[in-house]
Amino acid sequence: MKNCLFVLCDGMGDRPIFELGNKTPLQFAKTPNMDKLSQWGEDGLMDTIAPGIRPGSDTSHLALFGYDPHEYYTGRGWFEAAGVGVQLQPGDVAFRGNWATLDNGNIVDRRAGRITEKDGTADLAKALNGMKLESVDGVEVIVQPSTEHRLVVVFRGESLSDDVEGTDPKVTGRPAQKARPRIEDEPSRRTAAALNEFTEKALGILSTHPVNANRDLPANYVITRGAGSVREIPSFEEKYGFRGAIVAKEGMIVGIGRVLGMDIIVPEGATANVHTDLVSMAHAALDALKKYDYVFVHIKATDILSHDGDYVGKARFLEKIDKDFLGTVLEKVDLHETLVVLTADHSTPCELMEHSGDPVPLVVTGAGVRLDDVRHFDEISAMKGYLFRIKGSDLMPIILNYINKAEKYGA
Ligand code: ZN
Ligand code: ZN
Repeated sequence: MKNCLFVLCDGMGDRPIFELGNKTPLQFAKTPNMDKLSQWGEDGLMDTIAPGIRPGSDTSHLALFGYDPHEYYTGRGWFEAAGVGVQLQPGDVAFRGNWATLDNGNIVDRRAGRITEKDGTADLAKALNGMKLESVDGVEVIVQPSTEHRLVVVFRGESLSDDVEGTDPKVTGRPAQKARPRIEDEPSRRTAAALNEFTEKALGILSTHPVNANRDLPANYVITRGAGSVREIPSFEEKYGFRGAIVAKEGMIVGIGRVLGMDIIVPEGATANVHTDLVSMAHAALDALKKYDYVFVHIKATDILSHDGDYVGKARFLEKIDKDFLGTVLEKVDLHETLVVLTADHSTPCELMEHSGDPVPLVVTGAGVRLDDVRHFDEISAMKGYLFRIKGSDLMPIILNYINKAEKYGA
C-alpha cells in the first residue's frame, strides 16, 4: 500500500444507552460499510492520550498526527488563531474570545445575542486590531473575527506567556473577571496586564461602535480564554518526508493542520455540522489521494450531537456517514493502494454530554493487514480485534508501517 485515508468522526465513541437497549449509538446504528471495514481489516480500541484520560479534540489530534501533546500543546488559542488565518510566530500568545454583552459591570450574554458575521463582527475586529497598549512596552495586538460570536486575540512581543487566566467568567450574571497570571513571573504578569488593558479599551471602543447602535445585546465586550503560546513545531512533511492534507471545515482542526503545514481542503458544501455534504467530502478525499500520501478527513457533527445528548440523532448521523461518506469511498478506493483508517479522537458519551476517557473503536483496512474475526464496527466488538488496545501515539507508526514509509530501527 502506498497511501492512507484517515477518517475521523469526532466524539464517535459512546457508552451503552438504556433507551437503545443498552447499546451504544454505534452498535445501534445500521452501518454496513463500517462493518465491511471491520470484516476486511483489523480492529482494536484506542486511548488517544492514555487510559482514562479525557482528551480535548486538540490534544488528541496532535497525538494522532504523531506529535506528543505533552511536548507541544500549550492551549487552544494557538490553533484557533491559525484556523482564522493569523500568521503566527514563535513567542506569540493567542486567545480564543467571544463578543459579549456587559451591562452595569456584569456579563449578561456571553455571545452578544449570538452575533454573527453578517451583523458586522469583521468591523468590530477591525476597530480593535492594532490597538496601542500603554501598560506594556512593545506589544502588538492582532484581532481577527472567527465564526459567529467568536474571535481571536493575539499578542506579539518580547517575553509573553500563556500562563494567564483569561477574562471569560464562563457564566452570566457575574462581573467579567480580570486576567490573572497563573504563575508569578514577569512574562505572565506582563501578558495579564496587556489583556486587562486591551479588555478595558475594547469596552470603550465597542460601546460607541456603529455595529452596536441598534442591538438589544450589544457586542460591547470581549471575553477571552484558552491562552496558547506558539512554539517551534516540525511540519508534517519535515517529520515524515511526505505531504499530508486535511479535509475539514472546523476551525480548530483547520488550525492544527495549518500549524503542521498540511494542505487544507474545504469541499463544496462541507460544514462543521450535521448538514455537511458527506458525498462531497468523500469525493474531495478520493481526489486528494491522487496527490497526497496521507489524507485526513474530519467529520464533526458526531461530537456536536453527543454534547447535545442526542443519541438518536447520533445514531442516525452515523448511518449517514456510513451511507454517504463511506459508501462513496468504498465504491472507488483501491484497498491494494490505500490503507483506510476509521476511528474517533475521543468518546463523547451522550449521557455525559462531555468528552470521556473511554477508549475509541479503531479499524485499519487494506491489502495485507492481518484479518481478525470482528464483524461489526463498534466499541464492544472492536475489543476482540487484532490491534487489541493501543494509544493514539501508536497509530502513526502502524500507518507508516503499512504504507511502506517506516524507517527501520537498527541495522
Ligand atoms: Zn473531538
Ligand atoms: Zn467535543
